[in-house]
Amino acid sequence: MKDKQALLDQIRADILADNVCPNLAETATNLVMGDGNVDTDVVFIGEAPGKNEDQQGLPFVGAAGKFLNEMLAHADMKRSDVYITNIVKYRPPNNRDPEPEEKRAFWPYLLRQLAVIQPKIIVTLGRHSMEYFLPGQRISDVHGDPKRIGFGKDRLVVVPLFHPAAALYNGGLRQTLIDDFSRIPQIIDLIDKERT
Ligand code: URA
Repeated sequence: MKDKQALLDQIRADILADNVCPNLAETATNLVMGDGNVDTDVVFIGEAPGKNEDQQGLPFVGAAGKFLNEMLAHADMKRSDVYITNIVKYRPPNNRDPEPEEKRAFWPYLLRQLAVIQPKIIVTLGRHSMEYFLPGQRISDVHGDPKRIGFGKDRLVVVPLFHPAAALYNGGLRQTLIDDFSRIPQIIDLIDKERT
């Protein structure tokens, strides 16, 4: 089998060849695929690149990314331990919310990324990525609670969290996010115990 990075590079090439979301592609500087350790246990999935991410071609490198790094440190994790991506891979103009059809257009490519990486858990950041894995749920009700879902012929654990940018606007959410985030290593330990 080809190595994981080669398979991820192929997904990138397919997004370009398939001309996914041409309107977003036209205004964006970079296609932001993802970054981090392809052999990780944990994949974080945000919403869409912002200005800094678009300029650098990397996810979560702006203000929300700084807070994400802080939370990783709280949970004794490093960016180089995890993989980070978004559901929509081009920056929406003026940082508007991604449209439903934009999320739908990128969803199959996100599933392919996950099938290549095969993480033990997925952490969704905000409702835009959560709604695809846990349809019909409200983030305020389920944040921090691990949920099992079917994924192809496997099972996968999804942990829905608030988006780190939400804590930048709503200081009250900051501690909630840190607390939810700090439980991630315990959730991974539990999955490991179940599998042995
Ligand atoms: N917000 C996101 O959802 N993703 C990024 O990459 C940056 C900010």
